Amino acid sequence: MIEAQSWSFSALSTLATCERKWHMRYRAGLEEEPTSAQALGTALHAAMQAWWDHRSVPAAEAALDQALEAGHIDPGQHADACWLIGRYARYHLTGPLRDFRVVEQEADLEGTLAGVRIRGRVDAVLEGKDRLWVVERKTGKSWPEALKTPISAQPGIYLALARERWGPDVGLINEHVRTYRWIRDEHKHPPHDSVYVAFEPFDASLVQRAEAWIRLVLERAQDAVEGQRATVPVLNPWVCRSCPYQEQCLDADLEEVEL
Ligand code: SF4
Repeated sequence: MIEAQSWSFSALSTLATCERKWHMRYRAGLEEEPTSAQALGTALHAAMQAWWDHRSVPAAEAALDQALEAGHIDPGQHADACWLIGRYARYHLTGPLRDFRVVEQEADLEGTLAGVRIRGRVDAVLEGKDRLWVVERKTGKSWPEALKTPISAQPGIYLALARERWGPDVGLINEHVRTYRWIRDEHKHPPHDSVYVAFEPFDASLVQRAEAWIRLVLERAQDAVEGQRATVPVLNPWVCRSCPYQEQCLDADLEEVEL
Protein backbone atom coordinates (compact mmCIF):
# COMPACT_ATOMS: atom_id res chain seq x y z
CA MET A 1 0.00 0.00 0.00
CA ILE A 2 2.84 2.39 0.83
CA GLU A 3 4.45 1.82 -2.59
CA ALA A 4 1.11 2.22 -4.38
CA GLN A 5 0.37 5.54 -2.74
CA SER A 6 1.57 8.89 -4.05
CA TRP A 7 3.08 11.02 -1.28
CA SER A 8 3.55 14.77 -1.06
CA PHE A 9 6.56 16.10 0.84
CA SER A 10 4.14 17.83 3.16
CA ALA A 11 2.32 14.56 4.00
CA LEU A 12 5.63 12.79 4.65
CA SER A 13 6.85 15.63 6.80
CA THR A 14 3.60 15.62 8.82
CA LEU A 15 3.85 11.84 9.25
CA ALA A 16 7.43 12.24 10.49
CA THR A 17 6.32 14.90 12.98
CA CYS A 18 3.18 13.25 14.37
CA GLU A 19 1.32 10.20 13.05
CA ARG A 20 -1.94 11.35 14.63
CA LYS A 21 -1.77 14.75 12.97
CA TRP A 22 -1.08 13.06 9.61
CA HIS A 23 -4.14 10.86 10.16
CA MET A 24 -6.39 13.85 10.97
CA ARG A 25 -5.22 15.91 8.02
CA TYR A 26 -4.59 13.40 5.24
CA ARG A 27 -6.74 10.39 6.05
CA ALA A 28 -9.72 11.70 8.03
CA GLY A 29 -9.62 15.01 6.06
CA LEU A 30 -10.60 17.12 9.07
CA GLU A 31 -11.14 20.82 8.39
CA GLU A 32 -8.51 23.10 9.79
CA GLU A 33 -8.73 26.80 10.36
CA PRO A 34 -5.45 28.50 9.37
CA THR A 35 -3.74 30.28 12.26
CA SER A 36 -3.17 34.01 11.86
CA ALA A 37 0.54 33.36 11.16
CA GLN A 38 -0.42 30.85 8.41
CA ALA A 39 -2.90 33.35 6.91
CA LEU A 40 -0.21 36.03 6.89
CA GLY A 41 2.24 33.60 5.25
CA THR A 42 -0.30 32.76 2.53
CA ALA A 43 -0.97 36.46 1.87
CA LEU A 44 2.76 37.19 1.65
CA HIS A 45 3.28 34.28 -0.75
CA ALA A 46 0.56 35.70 -3.04
CA ALA A 47 2.18 39.14 -2.81
CA MET A 48 5.65 37.79 -3.65
CA GLN A 49 4.23 35.88 -6.58
CA ALA A 50 2.49 39.04 -7.84
CA TRP A 51 5.76 40.96 -7.48
CA TRP A 52 7.63 38.45 -9.61
CA ASP A 53 4.84 38.40 -12.20
CA HIS A 54 4.83 42.18 -12.64
CA ARG A 55 8.01 43.42 -10.87
CA SER A 56 5.71 46.01 -9.33
CA VAL A 57 5.06 46.92 -5.71
CA PRO A 58 1.46 48.08 -6.40
CA ALA A 59 0.71 44.65 -7.92
CA ALA A 60 2.09 42.96 -4.80
CA GLU A 61 0.13 45.31 -2.55
CA ALA A 62 -3.05 44.54 -4.52
CA ALA A 63 -2.64 40.87 -3.51
CA LEU A 64 -2.40 41.98 0.13
CA ASP A 65 -5.47 44.22 -0.32
CA GLN A 66 -7.40 41.17 -1.52
CA ALA A 67 -6.36 39.18 1.56
CA LEU A 68 -7.49 42.08 3.77
CA GLU A 69 -10.84 42.43 1.98
CA ALA A 70 -11.44 38.68 2.30
CA GLY A 71 -10.79 38.91 6.05
CA HIS A 72 -7.77 36.60 5.90
CA ILE A 73 -5.46 39.19 7.49
CA ASP A 74 -6.24 42.14 9.75
CA PRO A 75 -5.37 45.82 9.10
CA GLY A 76 -2.25 45.63 11.29
CA GLN A 77 -0.95 42.57 9.42
CA HIS A 78 -1.79 44.28 6.13
CA ALA A 79 0.25 47.38 7.04
CA ASP A 80 3.19 45.24 8.17
CA ALA A 81 3.03 43.06 5.09
CA CYS A 82 2.95 46.11 2.75
CA TRP A 83 6.05 47.42 4.50
CA LEU A 84 7.82 44.09 4.17
CA ILE A 85 6.89 43.69 0.50
CA GLY A 86 8.42 47.13 -0.18
CA ARG A 87 11.69 45.89 1.29
CA TYR A 88 11.38 42.61 -0.62
CA ALA A 89 11.07 44.56 -3.87
CA ARG A 90 14.06 46.78 -3.06
CA TYR A 91 16.15 43.73 -2.22
CA HIS A 92 15.37 41.97 -5.48
CA LEU A 93 15.90 45.02 -7.69
CA THR A 94 19.61 44.91 -6.84
CA GLY A 95 20.07 41.44 -5.24
CA PRO A 96 21.47 38.20 -6.68
CA LEU A 97 18.23 37.31 -8.52
CA ARG A 98 17.83 40.69 -10.25
CA ASP A 99 18.52 39.31 -13.76
CA PHE A 100 16.64 36.04 -13.32
CA ARG A 101 13.60 35.38 -15.50
CA VAL A 102 10.37 33.78 -14.31
CA VAL A 103 9.70 30.54 -16.18
CA GLU A 104 6.75 29.34 -14.08
CA GLN A 105 5.05 30.04 -10.77
CA GLU A 106 3.54 27.26 -8.64
CA ALA A 107 5.14 24.40 -10.57
CA ASP A 108 4.09 20.81 -9.89
CA LEU A 109 6.72 18.09 -9.65
CA GLU A 110 6.41 14.32 -9.51
CA GLY A 111 8.79 11.38 -9.59
CA THR A 112 9.93 8.20 -7.86
CA LEU A 113 12.25 8.27 -4.85
CA ALA A 114 13.07 5.40 -2.52
CA GLY A 115 10.63 3.27 -4.52
CA VAL A 116 7.57 5.46 -3.90
CA ARG A 117 5.82 8.13 -5.98
CA ILE A 118 6.48 11.57 -4.56
CA ARG A 119 4.85 14.82 -5.58
CA GLY A 120 5.66 18.36 -4.68
CA ARG A 121 4.94 21.92 -5.66
CA VAL A 122 7.58 24.63 -5.77
CA ASP A 123 6.75 28.32 -5.54
CA ALA A 124 8.53 29.26 -8.76
CA VAL A 125 11.00 28.28 -11.43
CA LEU A 126 13.52 30.96 -12.41
CA GLU A 127 16.04 30.96 -15.21
CA GLY A 128 19.49 32.24 -14.24
CA LYS A 129 22.63 32.63 -16.31
CA ASP A 130 23.64 28.97 -16.37
CA ARG A 131 20.64 26.91 -15.25
CA LEU A 132 17.06 26.70 -14.05
CA TRP A 133 16.38 27.17 -10.37
CA VAL A 134 13.33 25.92 -8.50
CA VAL A 135 12.40 28.33 -5.74
CA GLU A 136 10.99 27.52 -2.33
CA ARG A 137 9.76 30.62 -0.49
CA LYS A 138 9.31 30.58 3.26
CA THR A 139 8.12 33.23 5.64
CA GLY A 140 9.01 33.05 9.30
CA LYS A 141 10.27 34.83 12.32
CA SER A 142 13.91 33.88 12.49
CA TRP A 143 16.98 33.02 10.45
CA PRO A 144 17.49 29.63 12.13
CA GLU A 145 14.42 28.35 10.29
CA ALA A 146 16.15 29.22 7.03
CA LEU A 147 19.48 27.85 8.12
CA LYS A 148 17.93 24.53 9.16
CA THR A 149 16.59 23.98 5.65
CA PRO A 150 19.78 22.39 4.21
CA ILE A 151 19.57 19.53 6.68
CA SER A 152 15.97 18.71 5.87
CA ALA A 153 14.94 16.18 3.24
CA GLN A 154 13.13 18.83 1.25
CA PRO A 155 16.09 20.09 -0.87
CA GLY A 156 17.03 16.55 -1.94
CA ILE A 157 13.43 15.69 -2.81
CA TYR A 158 12.80 18.87 -4.81
CA LEU A 159 16.14 18.69 -6.63
CA ALA A 160 15.52 15.07 -7.65
CA LEU A 161 11.98 15.80 -8.84
CA ALA A 162 13.08 18.97 -10.66
CA ARG A 163 15.76 16.95 -12.48
CA GLU A 164 13.12 14.50 -13.67
CA ARG A 165 11.16 17.37 -15.17
CA TRP A 166 13.83 19.78 -16.46
CA GLY A 167 17.00 17.71 -16.84
CA PRO A 168 20.34 17.80 -15.03
CA ASP A 169 21.03 21.56 -14.94
CA VAL A 170 18.77 22.50 -12.07
CA GLY A 171 19.35 23.98 -8.66
CA LEU A 172 17.25 24.99 -5.69
CA ILE A 173 16.88 28.48 -4.24
CA ASN A 174 15.63 28.73 -0.70
CA GLU A 175 14.25 32.18 -0.13
CA HIS A 176 13.37 33.14 3.41
CA VAL A 177 11.44 36.31 4.18
CA ARG A 178 11.69 37.34 7.76
CA THR A 179 8.56 38.57 9.50
CA TYR A 180 10.05 38.81 12.97
CA ARG A 181 10.76 42.47 13.09
CA TRP A 182 8.07 44.82 11.98
CA ILE A 183 10.21 47.84 12.79
CA ARG A 184 10.19 50.56 10.20
CA ASP A 185 13.73 51.66 10.95
CA GLU A 186 15.23 51.88 7.49
CA HIS A 187 18.65 52.91 8.77
CA LYS A 188 19.20 50.12 11.27
CA HIS A 189 17.70 47.39 9.13
CA PRO A 190 18.43 47.51 5.40
CA PRO A 191 16.32 45.36 3.01
CA HIS A 192 18.81 42.49 3.06
CA ASP A 193 17.95 42.08 6.76
CA SER A 194 14.51 40.90 5.67
CA VAL A 195 15.32 38.56 2.80
CA TYR A 196 17.71 35.63 2.78
CA VAL A 197 18.48 33.73 -0.41
CA ALA A 198 20.52 30.49 -0.45
CA PHE A 199 21.55 28.63 -3.61
CA GLU A 200 21.65 24.83 -3.52
CA PRO A 201 23.10 23.35 -6.73
CA PHE A 202 22.26 19.73 -7.50
CA ASP A 203 24.11 17.36 -5.21
CA ALA A 204 23.56 13.58 -5.35
CA SER A 205 24.27 13.20 -1.63
CA LEU A 206 21.26 15.40 -0.81
CA VAL A 207 19.08 13.03 -2.82
CA GLN A 208 20.56 9.97 -1.09
CA ARG A 209 19.86 11.53 2.31
CA ALA A 210 16.32 12.39 1.24
CA GLU A 211 15.72 8.78 0.13
CA ALA A 212 17.06 7.47 3.44
CA TRP A 213 14.69 9.86 5.24
CA ILE A 214 11.67 8.71 3.16
CA ARG A 215 12.45 5.04 3.89
CA LEU A 216 12.84 5.71 7.58
CA VAL A 217 9.57 7.65 7.88
CA LEU A 218 7.56 5.06 5.95
CA GLU A 219 9.11 2.03 7.65
CA ARG A 220 8.53 3.53 11.08
CA ALA A 221 4.88 4.27 10.33
CA GLN A 222 4.10 1.36 8.02
CA ASP A 223 1.55 -0.36 10.28
CA ALA A 224 -0.24 2.91 10.92
CA VAL A 225 -0.30 3.83 7.23
CA GLU A 226 -1.69 0.41 6.34
CA GLY A 227 -4.40 0.65 9.00
CA GLN A 228 -3.01 -2.20 11.15
CA ARG A 229 -2.81 -0.01 14.22
CA ALA A 230 -3.98 3.40 15.43
CA THR A 231 -1.65 6.30 14.78
CA VAL A 232 0.45 7.42 17.73
CA PRO A 233 0.05 11.01 18.97
CA VAL A 234 3.41 12.69 19.55
CA LEU A 235 2.11 14.63 22.60
CA ASN A 236 5.00 17.06 22.57
CA PRO A 237 4.01 20.54 23.77
CA TRP A 238 6.48 22.19 21.36
CA VAL A 239 4.86 20.43 18.41
CA CYS A 240 1.28 20.42 19.71
CA ARG A 241 1.06 24.13 20.49
CA SER A 242 0.61 25.02 16.81
CA CYS A 243 -1.50 21.97 15.90
CA PRO A 244 -5.03 22.72 14.68
CA TYR A 245 -6.33 19.33 15.95
CA GLN A 246 -5.67 19.71 19.67
CA GLU A 247 -9.40 19.42 20.47
CA GLN A 248 -9.96 16.24 18.50
CA CYS A 249 -6.60 14.60 19.13
CA LEU A 250 -7.28 12.40 22.13
CA ASP A 251 -10.86 11.62 21.04
CA ALA A 252 -9.58 10.02 17.84
CA ASP A 253 -8.49 7.02 19.91
CA LEU A 254 -8.50 3.60 18.27
CA GLU A 255 -11.55 3.98 16.03
CA GLU A 256 -9.35 5.14 13.19
CA VAL A 257 -8.09 1.61 12.60
CA GLU A 258 -11.51 0.75 11.22
CA LEU A 259 -11.25 3.45 8.53
S1 SF4 B 1 -2.21 17.81 19.25
FE1 SF4 B 1 -0.08 17.02 19.20
S2 SF4 B 1 -0.27 14.81 19.39
FE2 SF4 B 1 -2.30 15.59 18.82
S3 SF4 B 1 -2.36 15.48 16.58
FE3 SF4 B 1 -1.64 17.51 17.10
S4 SF4 B 1 0.60 17.36 17.08
FE4 SF4 B 1 -0.21 15.27 17.21
